[in-house]
Amino acid sequence: MAKKKAPAKKATAKKKTTARKAPPARPEYNASAAASANMTKRDSIYVNFKEPGTVLARILPRLDGNPAIFYKSVLHYKMKDPDDLDRGIALGCLDHHDNSFCYACAVADWLAGQENQAWAKMGKGFGSFEASDQVYVMGWVKNVATNEWEGPKLINVPAGPKGIAPKLTRKLSTAEDQRRPSFVDYDKGETLALIREGTGRNTEYDVESTGEFISMDAVDKNWLAKAFKDVDKVLDVKVWDVATQREVMELSHPKLPWAQIDAEVPMGYDS
Ligand SMILES: [Zn+2]
Repeated sequence: MAKKKAPAKKATAKKKTTARKAPPARPEYNASAAASANMTKRDSIYVNFKEPGTVLARILPRLDGNPAIFYKSVLHYKMKDPDDLDRGIALGCLDHHDNSFCYACAVADWLAGQENQAWAKMGKGFGSFEASDQVYVMGWVKNVATNEWEGPKLINVPAGPKGIAPKLTRKLSTAEDQRRPSFVDYDKGETLALIREGTGRNTEYDVESTGEFISMDAVDKNWLAKAFKDVDKVLDVKVWDVATQREVMELSHPKLPWAQIDAEVPMGYDS
């Protein structure tokens, strides 16, 4: 009996919904402060612009004496961790990080010049063997859900001509021209809104003033003790010697013609 009843019920329910004109579907409303706070939670020291959004940042100058405000790492991607081949890693470019001969650069150049299109492709462009620049600023970020400052953070700023890095440089330059403290000043610096809008080809970046001038002591009274003193170390750039680079690259890409590479790609400036 119960079995007979059930399908009949279903049929009437179906009739009801089809009879009524359905309003256009809207995305389910499920905004959560906890989930938003989670996005910028303390245990992650990195902030990036992989998604559209605004980051409120109080940026610091470098604390290692370098007058640039940016930290840059130059990395060769698409490598595997020799201790765990399931884990992707990037090799630090020796040319940039050690001012010495970089084997990964040499192999990227060699590949880029090959007739084999698959190899040539591996040699150039983002995400290939060719080294790619990652530019960071250090600062404290305001969590908009809790209105609290969190830091220190390493903010990975897009460095292309229309990215965030050149806009920060322009702001710094304006402050220099006007002989006034810039946004990185310990006491008189300004909170900036770092903005990404859109995705893909429509992505645009902007840097806006917020009018909030706040001393670092007010942001976090322990900021100086907490701030990263050696950012390269924090970024964990793998500045490995040429022999180790060679080993990692072969382990990561065993199908490349390593005998030919060994014969044609030098292992140092003099070889
Ligand atoms: Zn390199």
